[in-house]
Amino acid sequence: MIDYPQRLHLAKLPTPITRLQEISVATGVDIRLKHDELTGTEVTGNKIRKLEFSLAEARAQKCDTVITCGGVQSNHCRATAILGQRNGFKVHLLLRGERPQTPSGNLLLDYLSGATISYMPQSEWKFHEKEVRRLQEDYALNGQKAYYIPVGASDEVGLWGYIAAAEELRRDFEALDWEPDYIVMATGSGGTQGGLTLGTRLLEMASKVVAFNVCDDAQWFANKIRQDVTLWQQRYKQEIDVDELHITTVEGYVGPGYGEAGPEVFDTIKRVASTDGVFLDPVYTGKAFHGMVTELGKGESGALPGAKRVLFIHTGGLFGLFPQQDHFSFP
Ligand SMILES: *Cc1c(COP(=O)(O)O)cnc(C)c1O
Repeated sequence: MIDYPQRLHLAKLPTPITRLQEISVATGVDIRLKHDELTGTEVTGNKIRKLEFSLAEARAQKCDTVITCGGVQSNHCRATAILGQRNGFKVHLLLRGERPQTPSGNLLLDYLSGATISYMPQSEWKFHEKEVRRLQEDYALNGQKAYYIPVGASDEVGLWGYIAAAEELRRDFEALDWEPDYIVMATGSGGTQGGLTLGTRLLEMASKVVAFNVCDDAQWFANKIRQDVTLWQQRYKQEIDVDELHITTVEGYVGPGYGEAGPEVFDTIKRVASTDGVFLDPVYTGKAFHGMVTELGKGESGALPGAKRVLFIHTGGLFGLFPQQDHFSFP
């Protein structure tokens, strides 16, 4: 029914859905988890679904190099470094911040995969796309062709990843004879939320997509998703009323800032690991999960009114836990 563009099959799909027993009992809501942290081992997480389309596009454009950007602990950059390397691309990462003394977490994997890594201070980051164009020109002078994947692979090409995931979810729900009132996830660059919002709409699924932002605010995500969907329509000749998309972003759980979490997030990570054996991360899934449980606790006045069944998308991020290990009190 949905007509997809070219795609590389890189992720281990479909990912399973399991019930979170302890948390379901504690909240009185049937909470299940879509295990997108199982899309691969080193390539764990949500970015691989988008990169299936982004890297296929890079190959179609006969590019030999891929450039992408993100934070020093970017899960997206790590997935791109590894998948690029495996699929015959040279990978160049432009990371926001200072080069650390020793690489840890995601950055260690970036380094091991052989990616070229350059750093740009936070204060200059607003010019990062200019720097990407400069790098592309440098590669061109060298006879190479570099494809640019923006932060998080959140653009009109990467959007297909979670449109396809919505179709996978529809099959999951049929097989389980179970349909959630809400599909909940963390949102950071908007592509996962955007793809699911659009995909559930195209497939006329009843579940509402609700995202918890880990940076920026609800207005930023509404603008970003409308912009990506508009470009997607133009590029792939689709017809959809962009203003009618239900983009729902719940604010209030960013905490001290992007990549920085308060003690409630570390408590949530410890709690879910020690009750249901599921490991969340402090940058994305831990914040969103904490937000979801808090909002469920508010009942009808919360952001998830009438919730009886909820699906939480585990978007990965395990490697981002290790550089923050000092935040856990270890007796
Ligand atoms: C990138 C990321 C997200 C957010 O996804 P976006 O599509 O960028 O909004 C959520 N969780 C994890 C673990 C991520 O790496």
